[in-house]
Amino acid sequence: MKEAKLIWMDGKLVPWKDATIHVLSHVAHYGSSVFEGTRCYGTPKGSFCFRLDEHVKRLFMSAKIYRMDIPFTHEQVADATKLLVRENGLKACYIRHLVYRGYAEMGLNPLTCPVKMMIAAWEWGTYLGEDGKNKGVDVCISSWQRLAHDTMPLLSKAGGHYLNSQLIKLDALTNGYAEGIALTTDGFVSEGSGENVFIVKDGGILTPPSAAGILPGITRHSVLTLAKEMGIKASRQMIPREALYIADEAFLTGTAAEVTPIRSVDRITIGDGKPGPVTRAVMKRFDDIITGKAADPHGWMEPV
Ligand code: PMP
Repeated sequence: MKEAKLIWMDGKLVPWKDATIHVLSHVAHYGSSVFEGTRCYGTPKGSFCFRLDEHVKRLFMSAKIYRMDIPFTHEQVADATKLLVRENGLKACYIRHLVYRGYAEMGLNPLTCPVKMMIAAWEWGTYLGEDGKNKGVDVCISSWQRLAHDTMPLLSKAGGHYLNSQLIKLDALTNGYAEGIALTTDGFVSEGSGENVFIVKDGGILTPPSAAGILPGITRHSVLTLAKEMGIKASRQMIPREALYIADEAFLTGTAAEVTPIRSVDRITIGDGKPGPVTRAVMKRFDDIITGKAADPHGWMEPV
């Protein structure tokens, strides 16, 4: 990764190489963390964090579900984020917020360990590759299912949940795919290892609802909002696996992946194998906003 100068740790800016924690920290053993990924974009008018407020809100919700009291306010976290980007002299970057159980006692009880927090920012290009964004990515249905709602609280973006995501990603990479899509325990489309899934059918876009074990992505919400404004019918509904195969178009959304077209699923070509007109229109609208080419009607771009 491309290192930056400073990392924000528990209220202080520290040199990148000094941002370390003890190996006996609770988080290292039991996955006890919640986190966020946010992007900051460089535009002709300066740098802007995309929907920073929503990301900070989700961080606090994720922490609440796991009974973690973040020792900072929403405003302090948002201000610290912008300060970090500025102090690192970054224009466009990826920002990672992490709240975790630190070092004190060993044992499962998380309450004996202090809640710690860090924010890091660094330059990070397209997650699924520039080629993937232009031509689309080849994905598979994973042999690993998405976690069920009664096993993990999926509205929390928690570190431990990402062991499931890692299995999905490993399964895909081992078999030569860029990404894996997990099904729910009853066989409906859930989401990618770190992205939400959309299909295009008869000119409208469909994406699975919260009940499909997804993390309701901020990019997903943005795409649903923009699509409706563009006169594209957009709905959240359960999607059977095979609907992916016969979709006219399909794409993934996420902070890291942004909007990435899907070229094939399980080696079945989607549409004519090229990013389709609806996907391209949504990508362009999203891109125009984040690059500052178009006005920002929803106040999504937070100046740094
Ligand atoms: N699902 C999962 C499992 C994710 O990790 C992410 C990335 N945060 C998403 C969906 C997309 O969410 P967002 O658009 O808020 O980044």
